[in-house]
Amino acid sequence: MGFSEAKDYGLLFRILKQRSERLLRPESVQGVMEHALQHRERVGVQDFVLLEDFRSEAAFIDNLRKRFHENIIYTYIGNVLISVNPYKNLPIYTEEKTTLYYKKAFFEAPPHVFAIADNAYRSLVYEHREQCILISGESGSGKTEASKKVLEYIAARTKHLRKVETVKDKLLQSNPLLEAFGNAKTNRNDNSSRFGKYMDIQFNYEGSPEGGHILNYLLEKSRVISQMSGERNYHIFYQLIAGGDAELMKHLRLQSRPEVYKYTTDLVTPASQKLNDAEQFRTVRSAMKVIEIGEDEQKEIFEIVASVLHLGNVKFVQNDKGYAEILSHDTNSTNVAELLKVNSSKLREALTSRTIEARGDVVTTPLDFEQAQYARDALAKAIYDKHFSWLVSRLNSSLAPKQKDSRDSVIGILDIYGFEIFPKNSDFLQATNGVKGKNIEKSRDILKWLIVEHFVTELVRASTIAVLISAAKQHCCNAVFRSVGRGCRCIISILDDECLRPGDATDLSFLEKLSQRLDGHAHFKSHQKVDSKTQKIMGRDEFCLVHYAGEVTYNVNTFIEKNNDLLFRDLQSLMASSGNKIAGICFKDLNLASKKRPETAITQFKNSLNELIKILSSKEPSYIRCIKPNDFKAPMSFDDKLVSHQVKYLGLMENLRVRRAGFAYRRTYEAFLERYKCLSPNTWPNFRGPARQGVQYLVESLKYEKEEYRMGNTKIFIRFPKTLFDTEDAYQLK
Ligand code: ADP
Ligand code: MG
Repeated sequence: MGFSEAKDYGLLFRILKQRSERLLRPESVQGVMEHALQHRERVGVQDFVLLEDFRSEAAFIDNLRKRFHENIIYTYIGNVLISVNPYKNLPIYTEEKTTLYYKKAFFEAPPHVFAIADNAYRSLVYEHREQCILISGESGSGKTEASKKVLEYIAARTKHLRKVETVKDKLLQSNPLLEAFGNAKTNRNDNSSRFGKYMDIQFNYEGSPEGGHILNYLLEKSRVISQMSGERNYHIFYQLIAGGDAELMKHLRLQSRPEVYKYTTDLVTPASQKLNDAEQFRTVRSAMKVIEIGEDEQKEIFEIVASVLHLGNVKFVQNDKGYAEILSHDTNSTNVAELLKVNSSKLREALTSRTIEARGDVVTTPLDFEQAQYARDALAKAIYDKHFSWLVSRLNSSLAPKQKDSRDSVIGILDIYGFEIFPKNSDFLQATNGVKGKNIEKSRDILKWLIVEHFVTELVRASTIAVLISAAKQHCCNAVFRSVGRGCRCIISILDDECLRPGDATDLSFLEKLSQRLDGHAHFKSHQKVDSKTQKIMGRDEFCLVHYAGEVTYNVNTFIEKNNDLLFRDLQSLMASSGNKIAGICFKDLNLASKKRPETAITQFKNSLNELIKILSSKEPSYIRCIKPNDFKAPMSFDDKLVSHQVKYLGLMENLRVRRAGFAYRRTYEAFLERYKCLSPNTWPNFRGPARQGVQYLVESLKYEKEEYRMGNTKIFIRFPKTLFDTEDAYQLK
């Protein structure tokens, strides 16, 4: 047979049909044909554009489900890859599969993340267009795995090229390292990324990776001090505790049970998990070695991690004046001081008092019990967060290309932050209702959610297929980030104004302003002016936004504090004096002397976001849309409702509609002619004219209908892939 086993069964069917008269006896033809037909019925279409009923979401999901149950997790919408998390290892990433995708156009092999990677790589190396791969989807849908597959593919694809092997190792090893510090077990995903990541892979003139650069976004700081029930803190804490050798543990004054530390106490770790954590710790250490983080630096890193654990256990007592105090024999605070090499009485002082400079006067006020706890937790979060950013910049200096080649070019991979609490609206309302006022951490996540909503929208907007976003989504986003009409302001600037306003801005005064300024906005509902149905579920400290995927209620609790992102000055300057070099660096660049107020959290994030969008819009995008088939991390289970929600949220039906309306396939004349020249006597065996002319001959002898294709400047555009499939079949039959 002239087809490889890797080809889509649909092709088998078509080949059989054409060959049947020539090769097989009529009886057996019938049998084989039926088999092929049944199989095709089972596996569905490999590109949604081929769906007969392309407007029906039911048909869409049907196709996804069919394929999923046949262990086929990838499907295209044109050049967008849809991936459904199989929650089990499939034999689709072998070396053999990898080579199958070398230099293949989309229709020449079954849909795969490798095809996306190969296309990006070829466009970069042969057509010199910078690329980016945008990966989106819910938490646990497989984004990070997909980004790793892209990286692995590129490493394999460039195997034959000379040198820079160590760069590839470093690129690959950056993952386990970042995941140890930036990932955690959540209820949705055992290895959930709690930060956004954009990674550039830099290539030299011959197409070999010669360096990389990582941008990190918005680590979930609140996780350092508390976690939702059933979830864990960042992996590294447990890994260190389970895997640190006796000498290291003694040096760090750590006990080998996470339960004894307040910050890691919430989830009792089963023995099997401990083994896994210990194993992962070895992986982390060997990754550090590859990345050339030396023994001394490693020691300092673990000192910082351990100091956060000790810090969490620092206890306050109330003195007779009602203020917080730390007893001088409190070993937790001395452990922190010794590990971070700061003065221990100064540390105790800084944790229990606050120095404010007002009009030249320096005033020190003692903290009450609650304020002291807040200061301690704020310090723990700041240490961890800054250390994480330091780690990323450390990685970057190790990944930086040794020789700057002016011709170098990049493929960017964006693993968009996993939005854990994305709009399954009714659930969400229940969630906020249940925790209203009580759970501060929850409301912090909501602020982040606001940002992420914007993040994703902006990304889609910045891309070339901007048509994807619905107007509704844009409008809502305007309410959040841009000004909405004259005299009206956007939520973010109102929040910033409140934060920067001298005096006693509170969450409620912010909400008050919001309600005034956004009154009448179609996508904003204040708690004062809502219909009776919403009234019931909206509290006095909440507002509601009409998002793309539905209405969402936000609780303003801690918005102001979170946006100010303040760490008391005393703690900052103490940390800047740390004898632990890394900790010192982390806190030193905070310009303590500066009179100017630091930028608010949201402004900082908005700026870095705009920067990212600028980077991305200069590149040609490809998309991977990840779908989570069920909420139980279970293989072979496909929850139609859950999938339908994601199909809506990711705008896939819209995506498909746009694809169908346009030209699904485009290829340069040269490439098209090269592959299919054998199909016309005018171009085979020899053709010397311009490629465009050759392609013209080809489409004529292949009898393409006029409306099925267009001849562009450098490319042929084909509207409907069926035409192309037929051409591909004819090619395979030759
Ligand atoms: P996300 O980054 O979207 O939150 P992950 O990429 O971390 O999700 O995937 C969550 C888990 O799902 C992974 O830890 C892995 O167990 C499983 N998984 C994801 N993609 C695949 C895949 N292609 N093959 C097998 N398992 C996968
Ligand atoms: Mg992830």
